[in-house]
Amino acid sequence: MSEVTKVVTIGEILVEIMASESGEGFRQPVQLLGPFPSGAPAIFIDQVAKLGHPCGIIGCVGDDDFGWVNLDRLRRDGVDVGAVEVMAGQTTGSAFVRYRNDGARDFVYNIKNSASGRIRLTKEALALLVECGHLHVSGASLFSDEMAGTVFRAIDVVKGNGGTVSFDPNVRKEVMADPKVVTALRALLRRCDIFLPSGEELTLLTEAGDPAAAVEELLASGPTTVVVKRGLEGASYFGADGRIDWAAYPVEEVDPTGAGDCFDATFVTCRLQGRGVEESLSYASASGARAVSVRGPMEGTSDMSQLDALRAGLPTPGSGRRLAKWLGRATGMTALAGITSVCSAHPIALEASMVEAASRGLPVLVEATCNQVNHQGGYTGLTPAAFRDFVYDIAEKVSFPRERILLGGDHLGPNPWRDLPVEEAMREAELMVRAYVEAGFEKIHLDTSMGCRNEEDYVPPEVTAERAAGLAVVAEGAAAREGTTLRYVIGTEVPAPGGAREEISELTPTTPEALRATLAAHQRAFAKANVEAAYKQVIAVVAQPGVEFDDQKVVVYRPEAATDLSASLATFPGLVFEAHSTDYQPNDALAQLVRDGFGVLKVGPALTFALRQALYGLDRIAAELDGTWFEHSLRAEMERQMLADPRHWQSHYRGDADRQRWLRHFSLSDRVRYYWRYPGPEAAVGRLMGFFGEMDIPGPLLDEFLPALSALVVHGEVAPRARQLLLEAVRHVLRGYTAACLRGPGLR
Ligand code: ATP
Ligand code: MG
Repeated sequence: MSEVTKVVTIGEILVEIMASESGEGFRQPVQLLGPFPSGAPAIFIDQVAKLGHPCGIIGCVGDDDFGWVNLDRLRRDGVDVGAVEVMAGQTTGSAFVRYRNDGARDFVYNIKNSASGRIRLTKEALALLVECGHLHVSGASLFSDEMAGTVFRAIDVVKGNGGTVSFDPNVRKEVMADPKVVTALRALLRRCDIFLPSGEELTLLTEAGDPAAAVEELLASGPTTVVVKRGLEGASYFGADGRIDWAAYPVEEVDPTGAGDCFDATFVTCRLQGRGVEESLSYASASGARAVSVRGPMEGTSDMSQLDALRAGLPTPGSGRRLAKWLGRATGMTALAGITSVCSAHPIALEASMVEAASRGLPVLVEATCNQVNHQGGYTGLTPAAFRDFVYDIAEKVSFPRERILLGGDHLGPNPWRDLPVEEAMREAELMVRAYVEAGFEKIHLDTSMGCRNEEDYVPPEVTAERAAGLAVVAEGAAAREGTTLRYVIGTEVPAPGGAREEISELTPTTPEALRATLAAHQRAFAKANVEAAYKQVIAVVAQPGVEFDDQKVVVYRPEAATDLSASLATFPGLVFEAHSTDYQPNDALAQLVRDGFGVLKVGPALTFALRQALYGLDRIAAELDGTWFEHSLRAEMERQMLADPRHWQSHYRGDADRQRWLRHFSLSDRVRYYWRYPGPEAAVGRLMGFFGEMDIPGPLLDEFLPALSALVVHGEVAPRARQLLLEAVRHVLRGYTAACLRGPGLR
């Protein structure tokens, strides 16, 4: 590499000091974080250095800590700082920044009146320029006539070397009110070779107001290359060889500052090193993506191997981070790989879940569904607050700590009111969401995919996202009043809640493209509705791994059919997949699901199925122990009840009378779970439990009627008493989930 390929920039070197909480400006005391090395030219050149390319910066700092923090960093990363003048009696520039909730930023700058306002072409600066093959200028550096003059003199030297110039306008519209600045920027535009505007900056300095015409005008007036940066929307290259678009790499945005500068630096460096346009765009986009995923303006500069990892789609640190953070609040455990979501309102199922969680020091996540619990009561007659109290009462009984209980609302949307016109249905959905949040539910699954009156069964993705954003607005409002932080889950699977009604055979896993579209639509809709902060609290996206069950069959997880899906998790940083209907999966399938990124496993019917099985077994044992028991038979009572009120099973169970009869009690769909709260069955369970009391149930009868539990009794793992056996039946199912969630690499 010859000497004159050195990349140089000229301009402000600052510290950035940021408010740690978002909000408006600096008119009241706020907590601050910093100083962070900053300044667009400084970030640019640090990024060039990280790529291992020779480079230097011309600038000026005070002989103060703010100056040294920058010089030390730049030097350490490989930047030649010999042309940065350390001026005694001056103060290093600074920028105080505070993010507003909508993502915009408020600044208090000290640049023009700081050491940066005194940049001059010293002997050292001129020596650096002599070695320079490429000069980069940020438009924001033309903050005074003197600075503009200095920059143009530097350009003359570099052009004299046969070098090239890149220019990132980095200007806000307000600056354009100053005609001198506009003149300088226009002159710079004509002298540059690579023009790197972001978004609307493309047309800021052109006669043409339309982007396509602007590109044409630009390419005719000086630059040979134009690259437009559009944040999340990616970037577009324009040159003599045409247009090339490059999508952004998906990452979790933590701090947007510096993305443009890192992009510029990486694009320019790659081109200077002879890489093609596509490869350069790819590295530059990865560089911008890494910049936004790290807090602090210069903290997210990258070396080549970090960019290669991102380009290769390798898992970025932060996969599952949001779920991990939430769970970490409820438990000290960081090694969790997932969480079981208990979707049941049966008190014994809930008690068993808490006992199981307590035995491993885990939190318990309990979820209620829109039809089951809502502001009008739902089919359980419970409002969210009443459901919460019901769960809390059980926790108190078994001394399960309340702070380890996480509550979730599932499929929150217009589903229960889909017979109404959409406006009315969404109004109810809003009231429901508010009630959930006010009752302390933290995990909010927004599902607005179903159509309402006069709509298709499922509405288009954009409409779904827009409706979800509307509900997020309501949820965030309520959360702000309650002082809570919500975690969202988005996305749905077709078919809708309630499980498959038809027989199922095979299932296609969700495609990564569909998930990407869902996420992108929600991101746009949330931004439009001013709830970007809520979008950043999305912890999971619902995906179909290819598991389901119907009346009598279970479709078991086939990892080989879901490899695209699980590999794509790396491109959804911070998130995990949420799997619904994982009931009846074998334990090794559950473990594999977690390993493949399904960090939330929902289970419901399988728990009450196990409970029903234990109850019916006890019922038959009672009949053996007491010749007159048939009068009290739970099974007979349940049959009477289900026939008297068929609404929870009739539309689900097809076939002749015999088939319907056995399905009523033994179907995997477990519609019988809806009947435990009816007075008849409830009394029958009471009689059964009263009959056994503290009795030790004879082993041979257990072996005959409850063989799985009998084995545990033989091993001394559970006492042969009715109540313990019921809890154990549910725990037996849950243990497979616990094992799956405790295994594997853990959430990152
Ligand atoms: P700056 O605020 O530093 O001036 P800019 O507006 O000049 O930024 P952007 O368009 O925001 O530049 O970002 C430059 C590039 O970085 C984008 O084209 C994109 O490839 C990448 N990038 C920016 N934001 C994100 C993001 N949230 N996720 C992924 N990539 C991003
Ligand atoms: Mg920019």
